[in-house]
Amino acid sequence: MSSTASGNARMNREKSQQIFAKAKQLMPGGVNSPARAFGGVGGDPIVFDRAEGAYLYDVDGNKYIDYIGSWGPMILGHRHPRVVDAVKRAADRAFSFGAPSVGENILAQLIIDLVPSIEMVRLVNSGTEATMSAIRVARGFTGRAGIVKFAGNYHGHVDSLLVAAGSAAATLGVPNSPGVTPGTTQDTHIGRYNDVPHLEQLFAQHGSEIAAVIFEPVVGNMGCVIPSPEFLRSLREITRKHGALLICDEVMTGFRVSIGGAQQLYGIEPDLTTLGKIVGGGMPIGAYGGRADVMKHVLPAGKVFQAGTLSGNPIATAAGIATLEQLRETPPYEYLEKISAQLEAGLAREATQANIPHVITRVGSMLTLFFSSVRPQDWETASQSNTARYASYFWGLADRGIYMPCSQYEALFISAAHTPEDIEATIRSAAEVFKTLA
Ligand SMILES: *Cc1c(COP(=O)(O)O)cnc(C)c1O
Repeated sequence: MSSTASGNARMNREKSQQIFAKAKQLMPGGVNSPARAFGGVGGDPIVFDRAEGAYLYDVDGNKYIDYIGSWGPMILGHRHPRVVDAVKRAADRAFSFGAPSVGENILAQLIIDLVPSIEMVRLVNSGTEATMSAIRVARGFTGRAGIVKFAGNYHGHVDSLLVAAGSAAATLGVPNSPGVTPGTTQDTHIGRYNDVPHLEQLFAQHGSEIAAVIFEPVVGNMGCVIPSPEFLRSLREITRKHGALLICDEVMTGFRVSIGGAQQLYGIEPDLTTLGKIVGGGMPIGAYGGRADVMKHVLPAGKVFQAGTLSGNPIATAAGIATLEQLRETPPYEYLEKISAQLEAGLAREATQANIPHVITRVGSMLTLFFSSVRPQDWETASQSNTARYASYFWGLADRGIYMPCSQYEALFISAAHTPEDIEATIRSAAEVFKTLA
């Protein structure tokens, strides 16, 4: 890697490099999730020590403005006092019961109150568990096997959904990970995001076998890609017409693009919704829920098996409750819109001034700067970006104390703890970096 692709001498990251060298001997690729491994930008991942508000501190003592927020959960910023307090009080009572506790009722009630289409909910431990379970319930409910997912949409590492999950291969039923068998994915049909005629064609051919369509209502996992109103409308109409369920994967967008998620923002009426990230306030929680008549098929009310030793964990639910209550009582969404628009306008202005071809997509506090001249609307158009340029941009900003997503194909997130001054400092640094890219 060149010096620009792995950081330069502006910052000392010796300890980080030592720890990561050791990590590589202990864990595959040195990480516990591949999105952290800097595969998209080269060089060694930065190892962090602590976080506060909008800032991260690495093990060498360098400070960064954080634009990933743990990939979405930290909408209130790190260590929000209300959440810290709730977690401490919960830890004083119990770590885990493996039996009912009242926090589960409180979090379930909050989810049902806030997310328009959810009448009944089940708590799990991750977004992956949520989507995996929602698919199983949809299949159990409809008695059908087929599912439709869209190329470039990511729904966690569920076997049957690891097809065209941000990959160029948009071929029917071909898995994109070794270990995922063709048998597992043979019922998975790949749609094209924002492509209504293609969706109609899929249903014309396979409509009677399809249990559900799962989709990201704003895509974050191929960079931020915005749905067209026609696409959202046809998703609902076509699934309804063919007796398939519509699963809105709001693991990223839930409580992010509005308090009621993308379904509230756009008026989507899904049958099932999956949640994660913000719903746990930084602790491991996922959830799936929706129509009561569908959710009543889940064991022990119904026959579709789904379980979890640590599901509804009292410490994790305490973090989730504190986060959602804070969002409900002091909604940050207007403020987030304001500072996110400020970042968008500043980045656009400086990139234009430096003659850097770019497209910026944004919904609320989710944003991607694509180094591309094509406005992305599906995987094909999103994947035309200049990823080498993104890598230089990433490291240029990292060396100036700004931590962006380590891939062109991940949205950045802004938190309520970011100040207009943080945004201005980011724009100034980006302006410097753009000049080195031209
Ligand atoms: C992050 C994400 C998931 C997976 O959640 P995990 O908690 O990482 O398992 C699923 N769907 C979407 C849309 C996501 O952004």
